[in-house]
Amino acid sequence: MTERVYFTSDELTLNAQVVSCTAQEDGRFRVTLDRTLFHPQGGGQLADRGSIAGVQVEEVINIEGDVAHIVGRHIPVGAVEIAIDPETRALHARLHSAGHLIACVGQSLGWLPSKGHHWPGECRVVFERQSDSEPLTGEVVEEAVNALIELDAPRHLSNQEGVRSVCFGTLPLHGCGGTHVASTGVVGRIKVLKFKEKKGLLSVHYDVAQ
Ligand SMILES: [Zn+2]
Repeated sequence: MTERVYFTSDELTLNAQVVSCTAQEDGRFRVTLDRTLFHPQGGGQLADRGSIAGVQVEEVINIEGDVAHIVGRHIPVGAVEIAIDPETRALHARLHSAGHLIACVGQSLGWLPSKGHHWPGECRVVFERQSDSEPLTGEVVEEAVNALIELDAPRHLSNQEGVRSVCFGTLPLHGCGGTHVASTGVVGRIKVLKFKEKKGLLSVHYDVAQ
């Protein structure tokens, strides 16, 4: 099983070993590494971009609980350097971390965060209304999240019995396999773009400042 080094490290380059490189039916190759910095698509977050031994990685996906790196040409088994595209990683981590902060703000007012989608241009957090949910508006969410960003609260990671959890400052811990900023200030300001409740499901659409 590939060691997911991005769980504990923000490094963008790493020496790793290609364990296998298998031809796929579509003419591309599936590379398995002993350890990786590539976050695969999943958990509401897009995959990292970058390269293995200078070969561009086209897709990163979870297959049977392991990380599969899809590339356009064969990479021999053995030592390689992997490199993550810093701009994509930074944007995805900012959008995803903003989602955590929105979830925490809603949760503190009695809304149950049930879904997060943190793709550039289509970010949203969905909450389920509870019997004790307090009134909430887009302005309240935006103001509270931007106050948390202003605090520049540090990220805390924990990895207990294989379950990886993340929180910022003293906010609640959430189980999560994504990539995150090192402190909330890195998110930059957020803007709530759309705020809509339908059949007890509240969707908060947002973006981060450019
Ligand atoms: Zn997360």
